[in-house]
Amino acid sequence: MARPVIMSVDDDPEVLNAVERDLRVHYGSDYRILKSGAPAAAIDVARQLQERGTPVAMFLVDQRMPGMSGTELLTEVRKLHPDARKVLLTAYADTQAAISSINDVELDYYLLKPWHPPEERLYPVLDDLLSDWKGVARVPYEGIRVVGSTWSATCYSAKQFLAGNHVPYQWIELERDTAIQEVVRPLAGDPPQLPVILFPDGTHLVAPSSRQLAEKIGIQTRAQLAFYDLIIVGAGPAGLAAAVYGASEGLHTLMIEESATGGQAGTSSRIENYLGFPAGVSGSDLARRATDQARRFGAELVTAQEAVGIRREDPYRVVQLSDGSEVSTKAVVLAMGVSVRQLNAAGEQSLLGAGVYYGAALFEAATYRDQDVSIVGGANSAGQGALFFSRYARKVTMLVRAESLVLTRVEITGFSGSGKLEKIALRKLDSGEEQAIGAAAAFIFIGAAPRTDMVAGAVERDDKGYILTGPDLPLEKDRPKGWLLDRDPYLYETSTPGVFAVGDVRAGSGKRVAAAVGEGSATVSMVHRYLETV
Ligand SMILES: Cc1cc2nc3c(=O)[nH]c(=O)nc-3n(C[C@H](O)[C@H](O)[C@H](O)COP(=O)(O)OP(=O)(O)OC[C@H]3O[C@@H](n4cnc5c(N)ncnc54)[C@H](O)[C@@H]3O)c2cc1C
Repeated sequence: MARPVIMSVDDDPEVLNAVERDLRVHYGSDYRILKSGAPAAAIDVARQLQERGTPVAMFLVDQRMPGMSGTELLTEVRKLHPDARKVLLTAYADTQAAISSINDVELDYYLLKPWHPPEERLYPVLDDLLSDWKGVARVPYEGIRVVGSTWSATCYSAKQFLAGNHVPYQWIELERDTAIQEVVRPLAGDPPQLPVILFPDGTHLVAPSSRQLAEKIGIQTRAQLAFYDLIIVGAGPAGLAAAVYGASEGLHTLMIEESATGGQAGTSSRIENYLGFPAGVSGSDLARRATDQARRFGAELVTAQEAVGIRREDPYRVVQLSDGSEVSTKAVVLAMGVSVRQLNAAGEQSLLGAGVYYGAALFEAATYRDQDVSIVGGANSAGQGALFFSRYARKVTMLVRAESLVLTRVEITGFSGSGKLEKIALRKLDSGEEQAIGAAAAFIFIGAAPRTDMVAGAVERDDKGYILTGPDLPLEKDRPKGWLLDRDPYLYETSTPGVFAVGDVRAGSGKRVAAAVGEGSATVSMVHRYLETV
């Protein structure tokens, strides 16, 4: 297999040689290091690499070059290698140009020249970016192979689980690969069950559940201890932050996550407003880093397990899991976030995963290269999704019910297609006129609702299901209803002492990554205060 490429471009031969030398020393064994002294030649090489299927992991490009600026060059090469990380080499005087190009080309980093010593100023940055790239790149490798059909909901959920948990895999479309058909057809049964997942050790699984898949690849699905200081339900930004602070401050901490860490943020193609990331950060990078951080401090993470209930056995709290097991704890942080609201249009269920998707489903982007896709919804996340898919698709149409810039005042009435999405049926809200548009995929972003059924009856919620905490709890005389303790509830504490709620699931929360992270970290000091009382 061809090694992935790191390519540097600079018209100044001295700088170019210095970059190449530094790159070769540190990355030469894993990557092919290429250099070019002219933007036009660099585009040619990038095109040849694309045609040969050789992945480019990173472009390091000088901003000031004759004929074409670094930003313009990056705009061209990202069309050929959309996953490659993009780094601009700038002099101090070009910083402004670099900052503007953060938006224009979704620049990942700008590096001020000179970068010596590279051990301090070059390699740490590039290591991070390459590790991000590995998380998204579709590089052929001898690892897990998922064989199935793009138009199958079970294949979609297996891919979603692997991608969400940052497990690299190679997707093989059964119909297009005759060699693999011979291997897989006898395993898939009749009628065939898909996907068939082939593991490097020679074993396979047929249409596995998330839990079977997790167990096979060594993702922890069961708690190691029977008792913890702190159990966190949900490993989105709020839960991850609570885990980092809880574990780093000495609490035996368990996170329970039903699908993949990162929550909603993990599905965002680019979070632009998170403090300290001027170039934005993809949700999956942020989730991966936070998960590593929580684990490094000793937090335990159980995945592919849903928390289905919570019971009070004073002074302990017992969390019930979907496999029937139970785990006890002194304190609980509920960080279940919100989940996408369903559109419930005709034909939707049968085409889910076969062209109709909720949320960004970023890992499906390459499937729709050069096809027409629609984005349903008009809020921020839909806009981000549209920008992301525009890098791959031939045409992206935004379908919005409210007044807005794109195809507006329309409502989806149904999805149709034989085996996969082909058409979206629309009704114009003003005239009632019906219309259909062709689309290979529809990504639906129409808002969200809290996920709090598991705590129904256990903690107070508002009329929309969000969990009430601290000063928001309804009072009866001076204290919340049913509250027996001789103190007020702590900040983020629910109507059940020792059970806290943070992030999007909490009534009145900020509904932002930073807000969720802030609440998740701040709640840990409240947990400590509570633990002093039990
Ligand atoms: C596409 C998109 C783009 C966004 N972009 C931005 C942005 O640019 N900037 C910004 O600030 N915000 C953005 N947001 C909002 C931001 O992602 C959320 O505010 C944030 O993720 C909330 O974090 P949370 O931890 O409270 O909940 P969530 O992120 O919703 O995470 C909750 C987690 O809990 C798990 N869970 C739920 N119930 C259970 C259960 N019973 N058992 C086990 N696990 C459970 C879920 O699987 C999930 O992983 C975006 C949201 C979306 C959807």
